[in-house]
Amino acid sequence: MNAEIIAVGSELLLGQIVNTNARFLSQQLAELGINVYFHTVVGDNPDRLKSAIDIAEKRSDIIIFTGGLGPTKDDLTKETIARHLGKQLVMDDMALAGIELYFKRTNRIMTENNRKQALILEGSQVLPNDYGMAPGMVLEKGKQIYILLPGPPKEMEPMFLQYGNRALSAKAGLHDKIVSRVLRFFGIGEAALETEIIDLIDAQSNPTIAPLAGDGEVTLRLTAKHTDEAVALSMLDKVENQIRQRVGQYIYGYDNSSLLEELTKLLKDKRLTITAAESLTGGLFQQEITSMSGASSVFKGGIVCYANEIKQHILQVKQETLENHGAVSEQCAKELAENAARIFGTDIGISFTGVAGPDELEGKPVGTVYIGITVKGRPTIVEKMSLGGTRAANRSRAVKFGCYFLIK
Ligand code: ATP
Ligand code: MG
Repeated sequence: MNAEIIAVGSELLLGQIVNTNARFLSQQLAELGINVYFHTVVGDNPDRLKSAIDIAEKRSDIIIFTGGLGPTKDDLTKETIARHLGKQLVMDDMALAGIELYFKRTNRIMTENNRKQALILEGSQVLPNDYGMAPGMVLEKGKQIYILLPGPPKEMEPMFLQYGNRALSAKAGLHDKIVSRVLRFFGIGEAALETEIIDLIDAQSNPTIAPLAGDGEVTLRLTAKHTDEAVALSMLDKVENQIRQRVGQYIYGYDNSSLLEELTKLLKDKRLTITAAESLTGGLFQQEITSMSGASSVFKGGIVCYANEIKQHILQVKQETLENHGAVSEQCAKELAENAARIFGTDIGISFTGVAGPDELEGKPVGTVYIGITVKGRPTIVEKMSLGGTRAANRSRAVKFGCYFLIK
């Protein structure tokens, strides 16, 4: 079985939005073991949509549409498909009830053209929309499967995950249970990681191992298929263990976790409190940790100490440290972390000082970063790094490294 994704919407062709629906659906279909051979994008125009369908039918078994299911005049996906397939649009009572409920819940007045959204292709299976109004549809005709999904990703993605993939698996005669797990890495690049496990990646077809890099982090998505879900899960465990034996020291979490989330969890579990003295990062660490739910039990407060006089007078960094070593130095990072923890009365103090760029500072090159970490009862450590990115990247990577050192 192979599939084609047809994204409908003139905004896509005008470059006003990115076709993230195709990306999402391709990833999902890959997990189902369905090959996607084509992505098509077509504007809100019935003739051109019709010709896209003609082409897709010649080369694809499964045709998935996103967009154009809304109530307005330019939304014409299902009308065009209905005409093309010689099907009627019929009112679906469940879908209508769902739309009425949605209006009640959101306290809005329902208009006549909202009823239009409850019209479905006759003979199709309805996919409920838990986050909006337009229902999705799955229809089989001849050797083809047609799937219609709404355009907004926040409606389309949960609809597919909740109902669409199961309906598709059933119609396409897939019996395997598919389980996947994402391993999150930090402190190792994509190329280095791949080199370490390339033989595993090459040897595996079930489970598959797919690396993905972004934002200074690398992830591996492991996906296993089996008719018995428990067997599929144990297949994942086995390959995860093999990977851990080689590069386990870089794994910090699973699935949608983040370094900040893992750090917050760890501090909470160990009942430890933390403060930060931030020069380089200007409060970024504090902003990110306070965006975590439960931050209040671990984070007391901190100081943005951008100017040297703040480092000296508020954070009590010695004048001779600033004169002899400079603000971007191991000694300064150490004093900042230790003094912050003392002043705020926390178990842990972390400090960030460095040269974000674009210009060098104190004769030190852009990307020079010192992170001081003091934990009650242990000697303070200072990690020095040379990050080579832009100003924004250096700051955000410094925060990630700080979290990583704390988790380790
Ligand atoms: P609505 O009921 O909101 O009108 P719809 O099913 O008619 O939904 P569209 O009108 O085609 O969908 O698109 C609505 C919005 O959904 C777009 O403005 C855009 O923000 C988003 N969207 C549509 N298609 C895509 C896509 N392929 N990738 C990412 N976002 C998309
Ligand atoms: Mg629309």
